Amino acid sequence: MTWLPAENRYDTMKYNRLGRSGLKLPAISLGLWHNFGGDTPHDRKVDMCRTAFDLGITHFDLANNYGPPPGSAETAFGEIMRTDFAHLRDELIISSKAGYDMWAGPYGEWGSRKYMIASCDQSLKRMGLDYVDIFYSHRFDPETPLEETCGALDHIVRSGRALYVGISSYNSQRTREAAAILKDLGTPCLIHQPSYSMLNRWIEDDGLIHTLEDLGIGSIVFSPLAQGMLTTKYLGGIPSDSRAAQNHFLKKDFIRPEIIDNIRKLNGIAEKRGQTLAQMALAWVLRNGRITSALIGASRSEQIVDCVKALENDTFTADELAEIDLYAREADINLWAKSAEL
Ligand code: NAP
Repeated sequence: MTWLPAENRYDTMKYNRLGRSGLKLPAISLGLWHNFGGDTPHDRKVDMCRTAFDLGITHFDLANNYGPPPGSAETAFGEIMRTDFAHLRDELIISSKAGYDMWAGPYGEWGSRKYMIASCDQSLKRMGLDYVDIFYSHRFDPETPLEETCGALDHIVRSGRALYVGISSYNSQRTREAAAILKDLGTPCLIHQPSYSMLNRWIEDDGLIHTLEDLGIGSIVFSPLAQGMLTTKYLGGIPSDSRAAQNHFLKKDFIRPEIIDNIRKLNGIAEKRGQTLAQMALAWVLRNGRITSALIGASRSEQIVDCVKALENDTFTADELAEIDLYAREADINLWAKSAEL
């Protein structure tokens, strides 16, 4: 039987315009980097996607390499599209990316035209889609001319494989260069996907955030919860079912006593605001309207429900912001340098 979403799904979510484009994204979007591979039961993936959509999360973010194994998150999402979301395709914004290592040999990663277009075709096949809404260059390729990578993105749009294009983790300078090339080609850069959180402010330090405003490019920030560190889950140690327990992308040695001390103080501020720490961390990235969407991950539906409630209190006093800065700067462990490898 066809799955029917909640009738009130558009009642509470906020939708923000992406830069100077016609497209809006939900203030909170769901990424399928973790917990959508072969290591997670399919029922739980279905449940998370249904829960998200019922809460007005219209945007699901993927990439060729999400899994494990690489590609399996797209395959799982393709299955959910077929069983649950097929009749809702026009209500969804689905993105994918190419840039990281995907298949053997010299054409399986980075930013060549050969790789980008082949990878996009593979992603469409895995998801059973005719097109994705947004296709990204996942990382800047220092060896391929930017004109070639951007030319591939332009071709992907012109050939009907994607409606819009974006870039991820490009610094401010490279963003200006890519945006200029894409503009000349007639396929504007819609969106940038960088990492950003209270613990990771490289987009402020690098000037990217100003560049995006200047160019009218929207922004969706990944790991706004610092992969789970900006929640209460590590205050009492490392739970066995947490991302840090896997010691892969989130290392156990990030969970150091001096960092946890500061996270506990941040949690104290959240409690005074009547929020969970996760909610405050999301409200913080969205605090002044400069970020279009906060791109969360989740390992279970309850986390998504908790995160969306961030929008119930998304303003801060100057004193709260100053206090957050104090503890968050102390807990900053330069996750960005590490996330550049993601
Ligand atoms: P995140 O939101 O910072 O971390 C998600 C993790 O936080 C969850 O897996 C869960 O950890 C925990 N969590 C979430 N909500 C919670 C809650 N309410 N209470 C307690 N814990 C909660 O984001 P992320 O997963 O690192 O990244 C999000 C998305 O960004 C990815 O799925 C992907 O789409 C995108 N991304 C893009 C790039 C890129 O290079 N462009 C890189 C990384 C990510 P547990 O699993 O431990 O329960």
